[in-house]
Amino acid sequence: MKIPFLNFDPMHRAIQTEMADAFQRVYNSNWLILGQEVKNFEAAYAQMNQVQHTVGVSNGLDALFLSLKACGIGQGDEVIVPSNTYIATVLAVSYTGAKPVLSEPRTDTYNLNPDLLEQAITPRTKAIMPVHLYGQACEMEAIMQIANRHGLKVIEDNAQAHLATFNGKLTGSWGHANGTSFYPGKNLGALGDAGAVTTNSDELADKIRVLRNYGSRVKYENEVIGYNMRLDELQAAFLSAKLNHLHGWTEQRRQVAAWYHDALQGIGDLILPVTHPAATHAYHLYVVRTKRRDELQQHLTAHEIGTLIHYPIPPHLQQAYRHMGWRKGAFPIAEELATTCLSLPMWPGMTAEHVAQVADVIRRFYA
Ligand SMILES: *Cc1c(COP(=O)(O)O)cnc(C)c1O
Repeated sequence: MKIPFLNFDPMHRAIQTEMADAFQRVYNSNWLILGQEVKNFEAAYAQMNQVQHTVGVSNGLDALFLSLKACGIGQGDEVIVPSNTYIATVLAVSYTGAKPVLSEPRTDTYNLNPDLLEQAITPRTKAIMPVHLYGQACEMEAIMQIANRHGLKVIEDNAQAHLATFNGKLTGSWGHANGTSFYPGKNLGALGDAGAVTTNSDELADKIRVLRNYGSRVKYENEVIGYNMRLDELQAAFLSAKLNHLHGWTEQRRQVAAWYHDALQGIGDLILPVTHPAATHAYHLYVVRTKRRDELQQHLTAHEIGTLIHYPIPPHLQQAYRHMGWRKGAFPIAEELATTCLSLPMWPGMTAEHVAQVADVIRRFYA
């Protein structure tokens, strides 16, 4: 049995009628940009994420950029980001003209290490961007305390962790303004690019609404130099239909993770995901680690099991950031993760049989 890394089929088949209805509604309305569908989705998502405001935008990267921009971050400022994140977090900082400052993660949860944050803070530091990597909530209590002590903004990168919590409070509801992504492969995915900012600040929400739409509140009147970074009506309609299923899909991801956990316990040198006692995990990805990563990946590929590496090159070693002068060896934990991590198949609708087969193929690799 072939097991893909990601398979939309079980999710999309179950909601085909709702998605077709969503399309028909937008098609018949003849209103395609910033209308009732975006408003409805924003309200539903804000309620789900327990925040005052959601602002729908074009994608996750733009959500992070607009959050930083609305917080007044720009040239001459520094923003702390994890050394092991997806490049979008770092790019969002670069877009503002500010300098990304990398901070190493914990070796167990792979999330920002609060104990290392203060040594990265300088007089120029304006914000911290915790990334809830792979779907696990960061230690937000400690991060918010440090930020408040130093007068810093917090912008969560919640692209991978819809419905994850720390101390019972949802990711995307801690920071001053937070970005999330509805890229198709994310836990809540559109049928194309989409994203959102979540915030409890009336002022930041208002700024972001203006910035996403050409810096305009009234058509053809431009208050500031804004952007075209809007969420489409069509994507908003699809997302509203899918949002009703997010809790169920997240439960299924957690079930798949629990099956993996039982089946992969104590095999070879495999390191399984560890969840902080106060955190919950939304399992966007189920990431294992091994010194024999490339061999194991080849073995799984040969047995028609799809895997990916998140991420093979850490930001500080990317060619795009050569000008920063970041050296190989400068962020050893990020480098170690990049050479040892492997993401196993994970999607709502995966069965116990799928997981048993993946585990069996892995067991045979080590035998
Ligand atoms: C996907 C992702 C983003 C960017 O989202 P896009 O919608 O692809 O722009 C940002 N940060 C993280 C951690 C992501 O996984």
